[in-house]
Amino acid sequence: MKAAAPTITIKNVEKVAKRQGGYVPPQKRITLADGTTQYVPDWSRRGYYQRDERRYKTRAYVWFDGETVLDNFVGRFSRPVPLMRLALKQALADLGIDAVKATWNQRAGCSCGCSPAFVLDEALGFDLHISFTADQPAIDPAKADVAAARAQAIAKDPTMPDGFRAEALRRSLAKGSALTTALR
Ligand SMILES: [Zn+2]
Repeated sequence: MKAAAPTITIKNVEKVAKRQGGYVPPQKRITLADGTTQYVPDWSRRGYYQRDERRYKTRAYVWFDGETVLDNFVGRFSRPVPLMRLALKQALADLGIDAVKATWNQRAGCSCGCSPAFVLDEALGFDLHISFTADQPAIDPAKADVAAARAQAIAKDPTMPDGFRAEALRRSLAKGSALTTALR
């Protein structure tokens, strides 16, 4: 028996402008009429091509609509990536962006892993923030132990507010998809 396909509803798609890679001209200093100086591109000299194109590739951050900060703290290392990929595909189709390769990267937005995203194989000049709801858990059930360990760590963290820690403790004791507000 085949499981029913998830029902996904895209709630919001936001484009956030980002620098693109490509040609970087050299700069020259000019003096303005008021005597101040300013650097501007010098098109008479040869520039260079930005080598690290990877940095400029579009990141697509996919969010569960209505998720709380604690939901995010607990779940950010145990995301249901195939479900989020379906949401991404749906949002890209709505934007008319088709057939672009997207690679899940836990470190897409930050080297500590706090901001995972899909890295598109294109530098579109913007990043995407996509929020959605689905009739599926917001964490990968196979990684429930990872989420539980994170909830426990938060519960023990004295720098976190008390109410936050209490709720984290409650969730660390719950099992499986009960860890986050699971079904939306
Ligand atoms: Zn980080």
